[in-house]
Amino acid sequence: MLIMKKVRVRFAPSPTGPLHIGGVRTALYNYLFAKQNNGDFILRIEDTDQTRFVPGAEEYIIEAFQWLGIRFDEGVGIGGNYGPYKQSERKPMYKQYADYLVDNGWAYYAFDTPEALEARRKEAEAQKKTFQYDASTRQGLCNSLSLSKEEVEEKLNSGAPYVIRFKYPANLDITVHDMIRGEVKINSNLLDDKVLYKSDGMPTYHLANIVDDHTMEISHVIRGEEWLPSAPLHVMLYQAFGWEAPRFAHLPLLLKPDGNGKLSKRDGDRLGFPVFPLQWKDPKSGDISSGYRESGYLPEAVINMLALLGWNPGTEQELIDLPTLVKLFSIDNISKSGAKFNLEKAKWFNHQYIQLADEERLFTYFDGELRKHGVSADKEYVLHVQRLMKERVHFIPEFWEQTSYFFVAPTEYDPQAVKKRWKPGTAQHLRKMMEIIQAVQPFDKLKAHDAVMDYVQGNELNMGAVMNSFRIALVGAAKGPDLFEIIAAIGVEETARRVSRAIETIEP
Ligand code: GLU
Repeated sequence: MLIMKKVRVRFAPSPTGPLHIGGVRTALYNYLFAKQNNGDFILRIEDTDQTRFVPGAEEYIIEAFQWLGIRFDEGVGIGGNYGPYKQSERKPMYKQYADYLVDNGWAYYAFDTPEALEARRKEAEAQKKTFQYDASTRQGLCNSLSLSKEEVEEKLNSGAPYVIRFKYPANLDITVHDMIRGEVKINSNLLDDKVLYKSDGMPTYHLANIVDDHTMEISHVIRGEEWLPSAPLHVMLYQAFGWEAPRFAHLPLLLKPDGNGKLSKRDGDRLGFPVFPLQWKDPKSGDISSGYRESGYLPEAVINMLALLGWNPGTEQELIDLPTLVKLFSIDNISKSGAKFNLEKAKWFNHQYIQLADEERLFTYFDGELRKHGVSADKEYVLHVQRLMKERVHFIPEFWEQTSYFFVAPTEYDPQAVKKRWKPGTAQHLRKMMEIIQAVQPFDKLKAHDAVMDYVQGNELNMGAVMNSFRIALVGAAKGPDLFEIIAAIGVEETARRVSRAIETIEP
């Protein structure tokens, strides 16, 4: 019987700033794959590059997944049997692996100063070539392959700074088996002897990543396409250690809406949509970048939209909740080409999920928006407006933007609407219509409607003009649901006040 290894996948961000939504999608695909296979989903923080560390980034990452409702089984902030899950806390364990590689001829010490390397780069450039630290240049550089044993000992004993580099065998065809791309081949002569370890005791990403994936028993590495160039080195490292490599899947890029290039961290606010799950305040510059949460997206809409950016269920189905995504997901249906971000689609998803959301939950959002604007209203009334208006809401802040006049009287009137609709005689007609409405006792919106219609038709008035000027008085603009619904909600007295105020303001 074939014994399948337990599925264990990880999301391994570096805390170098806010999380890009491409990273969120990577995490999501890992999550879906893990849950579908009763596997484990792990959060590992890759913080070996201390120079790129940004305070607050790790907390941000954790908060983002909490908001999205994507739960890790193990990792930073959760714990588990394979910890610690933060690479800086695993620092002491990497040295032995670097030593193993050196001792077994898979790696070597290199003592070249940054200046010396820069000079080599310049030299190569002058000849229109690119300098590479590899089998063809190693002997001419300062390392444990070119120096004598004694010289190396002496350098190490004197505390000279060094790095440990991987020693690619010359002219070797390396094959990466990728679950999305199939076989990807590259010759080792094209590859640079990457740095694995530094004399400050820190491994680089490559060494730490492989050691951790192995010791954490990761079965599948699902990550962004930008890591594909690193995959041959990783395959070689597994070979060097004599470890079974996990299976690899490199996800297609997320592209700008026009398909021209990858969606970068700077694109979002420039193109009118967030590229980060949560708002981010840069600790150095204080600059704010918008987030999906603060822009009024529901987390399930963001998840659904991201799931379909690069994957499809093989059917036309678009609205798919998280448990269903877990069932339908398959790596086979991930596309090889990049996926264009589509703002209209994002908006559509959010609108759909707002319509599907539970009334109490929407009330919490709505009430939150009202409070932000200093309004506290009776719950039943808010729920009534919610039912009336939710269909018009695409993003949570619109719960205020589309409904404010149900709670506070307008103080300004849209000049364009006034210009178009408010005619000589309008004031007189509005006063008359108000009298007709007040005469409907007790108030009834259908009866009031019919009575006003009789007046408008009986006097052969321009229906669009009078009804819209009435609307301008109540709403401040030519928008909103049925006029008599508004009157019923705000009440006849308040309607009368608004009509008088509009007449006084517009026709002083
Ligand atoms: N630390 C890498 C990143 O920031 C992880 C790449 C990988 O998944 O191997 O994306």
